[in-house]
Amino acid sequence: MYIRLFVYCNCIRDRKIKPIPEEFRPYVRFDDNILYLDYTGDSHYTAGSHDCQKGSKEEEPELSDPLWAEWLENACEHENGFQAYSGTIGPKSRLIPLIRLLQEMPDIGLQNILSAVNCNDSLEITPEKAADCLIELYQFKSNFPHVNGTVVMDLQSGTVLDILICDDAKLLYACENYHIGYDKDGLWVTRNEFPGKLPEFLFYSCHFNQDVLPYNASLLEDIPSGEYIELLHPVFPKENCSYPVDITINFRELTPSDFSYLTDPFEKAFKASVEAGNPVNILCAQSAVDFVF
Ligand SMILES: [Zn+2]
Repeated sequence: MYIRLFVYCNCIRDRKIKPIPEEFRPYVRFDDNILYLDYTGDSHYTAGSHDCQKGSKEEEPELSDPLWAEWLENACEHENGFQAYSGTIGPKSRLIPLIRLLQEMPDIGLQNILSAVNCNDSLEITPEKAADCLIELYQFKSNFPHVNGTVVMDLQSGTVLDILICDDAKLLYACENYHIGYDKDGLWVTRNEFPGKLPEFLFYSCHFNQDVLPYNASLLEDIPSGEYIELLHPVFPKENCSYPVDITINFRELTPSDFSYLTDPFEKAFKASVEAGNPVNILCAQSAVDFVF
């Protein structure tokens, strides 16, 4: 599941749109935050509204009008079709560290936010609820607990790729006799050919370079020692980082900024919602390809 957030702007309602091309002017109708192109006297095309339910696709021949579509795309100062904010959380699995932190520290709040995203469909958060969520986020940052965790980071971009709470360990792949995972001491690759015997460590590193080879295989090189191992897959998914990447795994006290890759998009969406007076739309879809960014 892939999570996307957006908030519509009020550019149509406030008439802050670029001049309408002359050929469409006789047919354009405004209704609050809805813009119609009305050729017949019936409303059969809407755009840039919170309520795009009117009309149906079968009745919208103008949807394919490239001139109108081109104008609509850039009709207000906001990108992505009248959206005051548009952002992504990414795969739903990226919320796991936050959910895990809450299990460990139930007093830190964020219940409103997590219950909102813990859905398998689309939903709206009203501006009033968005204001409550903003307060939750500020409390989360200001009352952040003393808790240790393992932070996996792409050093080049400074992007947090994953967080493990407390002494958690994570198994990334298990195939045949090989296991790949990480814990507070670093990434490990083990081979266990004989059940009942201790596994053999083939690779152990808390600072390594990951490069992708043809056929999606990957090469991991421990930076301090130069030791390397070739794997059938990259250990971190491609959507999270570009290759090659310089990855560190550190066990330390966590800070609110470690979670900003999750909290920043929410904060921006909630602020945009309160400012615009329009709801936050949360879309959960099967994969990123369902969306055009
Ligand atoms: Zn706008």
